Amino acid sequence: MTIKPIIILPDPLLKQVSEPVATVDDAVRKLADDMLETMYDAPGIGLAAIQIGVPRRLLVIDVSKEGEEKQPLVVINPTILKSSDERSVYEEGCLSIPDYYAEVERPATLTVEFVNRDGKMQTIDADGLLATCLQHEIDHLNGTLFIDHISKLKRDMVIRKFTKASKTRGTKAI
Ligand code: ZN
Repeated sequence: MTIKPIIILPDPLLKQVSEPVATVDDAVRKLADDMLETMYDAPGIGLAAIQIGVPRRLLVIDVSKEGEEKQPLVVINPTILKSSDERSVYEEGCLSIPDYYAEVERPATLTVEFVNRDGKMQTIDADGLLATCLQHEIDHLNGTLFIDHISKLKRDMVIRKFTKASKTRGTKAI
């Protein structure tokens, strides 16, 4: 497994809509494993393929608590079948927008259908942090970031800050 560099705002790839994964083969499983390792190393609780520059509908999540057994979840080509009218608010962050956090309101529960690491269709009913994390990562597959859910004023401030930082950082991802 390999730790991959994570792309950072304002990289235009983050706005790209990812394409479905055609078949779950060894290359896709290797990509999922690399993404899990990259996510654990960061550390984070979710990562979409586009965040390492691969525009495919694939994401990984692990919302297990520190000290608990790891619960890696590989989600390929997800579809949200239904989501609740009830909303919940979480303070979200993103590995592509380091050190920035903001409260985002989303449906509290949802049902997602997806293809798993073995290429099998699977359905998951999610609530709590897992529900938020799934929606955050599925957003990435559609070129949407969590800052697209906050006020324009706050969003513009974050984008300005990261655009300025990217100029001093140069083109190399660190
Ligand atoms: Zn993110």
